[in-house]
Amino acid sequence: MKKNNLYNLSGEIKNCLPEKMKEKSKRSKLEEFLNIDIKNIIKDDARLIVEDLRDELAKHNYYYYIKDNPIISDHQYDMLLRNLSMIEKKYPELITEDSPTQRIGAPLEGGFSTVEHGERMLSLQDAFDYQELNDFLTRIYKDLERGENEVEFICELKIDGSAVALVYEDGKFARGATRGDGVLGEDITANLKTIRAIPLRLFRKTGLKIPSRLEVRGEVYLAKDEFKRINAEREEEGIATFANPRNAAAGSLRQIDPKNTASRRLNIFIYSAVDSGELDISSHYEMLNYLVDAGLKINPNIRKAASFEEIKRYLESWEEKRKDLPYETDGVVIKVNDFGYQRKLGQTSRNPRWAIAYKFPPEEEVTRILDIKVSVGRTGALTPVAVLRPVTVAGSTISNATLHNEDEIRRKDVKVGDWVVVHKAGDVIPEIVKVIKERRDGSQQEFRMPGKCPVCRSDVIKPEGEVALRCTSMACPAQQYERIVHFASKGAMDIEGLGPAIVEKFLDKKLIKDSADIYYLKYDDVFSLENFKEKSTKNLLGAIEESKKKPLSRLLFAMGIRYVGSHTAVVLTRVFTDLDSLMHARYEEIEEIKEIGPKIAESIISFFKQEQNLKVIEKLRKAGVNFSSELKKVLKKEAFAGKTFVLTGKLNDFSRDEAKEIIENFGGRVTSNVSRGTDAVLLGESPGSKLDDARRYNIRLISEEEFKKMIKE
Ligand code: NAD
Repeated sequence: MKKNNLYNLSGEIKNCLPEKMKEKSKRSKLEEFLNIDIKNIIKDDARLIVEDLRDELAKHNYYYYIKDNPIISDHQYDMLLRNLSMIEKKYPELITEDSPTQRIGAPLEGGFSTVEHGERMLSLQDAFDYQELNDFLTRIYKDLERGENEVEFICELKIDGSAVALVYEDGKFARGATRGDGVLGEDITANLKTIRAIPLRLFRKTGLKIPSRLEVRGEVYLAKDEFKRINAEREEEGIATFANPRNAAAGSLRQIDPKNTASRRLNIFIYSAVDSGELDISSHYEMLNYLVDAGLKINPNIRKAASFEEIKRYLESWEEKRKDLPYETDGVVIKVNDFGYQRKLGQTSRNPRWAIAYKFPPEEEVTRILDIKVSVGRTGALTPVAVLRPVTVAGSTISNATLHNEDEIRRKDVKVGDWVVVHKAGDVIPEIVKVIKERRDGSQQEFRMPGKCPVCRSDVIKPEGEVALRCTSMACPAQQYERIVHFASKGAMDIEGLGPAIVEKFLDKKLIKDSADIYYLKYDDVFSLENFKEKSTKNLLGAIEESKKKPLSRLLFAMGIRYVGSHTAVVLTRVFTDLDSLMHARYEEIEEIKEIGPKIAESIISFFKQEQNLKVIEKLRKAGVNFSSELKKVLKKEAFAGKTFVLTGKLNDFSRDEAKEIIENFGGRVTSNVSRGTDAVLLGESPGSKLDDARRYNIRLISEEEFKKMIKE
């Protein structure tokens, strides 16, 4: 093996590697497999690597198919398989019959008798981006000698479950099996009979031909809710949880006692049938319709598409929408519709050549916890945060995941050095779903929360009824920094130019200690900061001055009182029209306000009891910050009071925050998503998918012009 393009197979030559390579060799074996330099690989290296890759894939097949408990992510598995396939493409002489690229990788375990499938049950070729999808279409057009748009495709959701084959003899459910290795499957008839969505008899509608033997294929799945229920139950019983609904479904199907399967409430979608020649059906679409007529359950979200553009539209429309489905989908399957064309295109040993699975970007990945750090939030809460080896999830790189609190760490049994499944969907904060205990190697370390605040070294306490530890010091710099950043932020006092970096500089130079000090900054203080010139200094001071006039609700929100968000602040200022009346209000007076509960009332009372806070408030008063509510002058408006609004698109004359404030000042509220409960959607330019949602629920649409009229009326 040549040394200059090797990866570390056995570790024995580590010491003769140059420094840079040594660093590289510190990576795990899996990472090495994922980072093979395929373009430059020489044959001798390739020969060794393919064997190792095959062993590695066999190991993961075992964990995935037999144990129903994968130890790497699906995406990592797919990339391993792809690397193997690319090396084999480069050196076809290295292909072996038993290579995972040539067969379906599900080893069979005893426990069930085996059945031979009428026709092989195949896997699907993957596409991970539009380019790969386009390549697939180009190949189809070429092989069929057809022009673009001359071949019809069917787009279906790819249900993330476990494949099964069901055999109906004279319309009666006779036998059902897992996909197994594609040729032989496990006979799980008794378990399948517990699934209510599998009819034991096909419909015999007038005119519907029922063949003497019909083999249908489908995906058994677990609804997301049911998956959560099962995992919660397992957690309570102290049994290992399932990594995802698909592994849970596969595990449930292969229970020795059908009673166990029955307790899991599995479901099924049928997606194809093997045409035995008895049916005169010439396309996939027709076949699906036949199966519906025969009483089988087919997923309703099926579309015909005649071009790449149409397929793309289908994919785009499901990328987000699929999250609202009650079951998991990991992609879309695109199939050539015409059976004649399908036969012409044929199949490889692993995949049909007339179908492809476009995979959505993974929302789950497997990575390692390098450390657990504790951050102190604006309210003094100590939050443990897992520092992760960076990994791409849902299209973005993540390197941290919140662990919430110590109870959560114990419940999930998270240790430093653990391999974990992380989940991230859209804009939500990444979360650790599960620890892969099988990958523990003895180096993992227990984590304990500190007894002192990691920022100011004050004692920490655990208030009764709360899960979080809190720093007891109001003067804790960590809180000050976050408090001041929050105070100046857009939704609060909105001081343009006073972002986190500048706040940090003012704190470092000891020019401010709390939020009120902002109003006492002098020209020279600001000018002394790095990169501040005359104009920028004047601008910042101007913005600070301007913020003094902000409505009282903004000030209340800016103060960072626990549980007082921007909406609660508006609700409060409708009753208490100046800060002093709120400061001196009794608990009962606050608690009786609609939308304000005991928790908020208690928090407000306790906030205004703290000496430190009163000092800050006095400084704000002296600086001339507005303490009274604009609302005195504003009447509640019929069109807004008690109504729920959603904003979408860009408004010309208002910022989103301004529009929100106006609606709230008139007694309405603004939520971020359209639901049946939404009263109206305010439409700006280029509205997003919320407009579609509004139309779907028949919700009133208001243009910016109408909105202006409503305010004036
Ligand atoms: P696949 O899941 O990528 O696609 C093929 C399967 O899709 C079919 O067999 C069928 O069961 C299913 N399917 C769902 N909806 C369908 C529809 N509408 N039409 C047709 N088929 C539909 O490939 P695979 O061979 O089943 O399994 C490989 C999957 O398992 C990959 O996602 C891989 O990442 C994962 N895997 C992971 C590990 C691991 O260690 N993490 C190990 C082995 C396999």
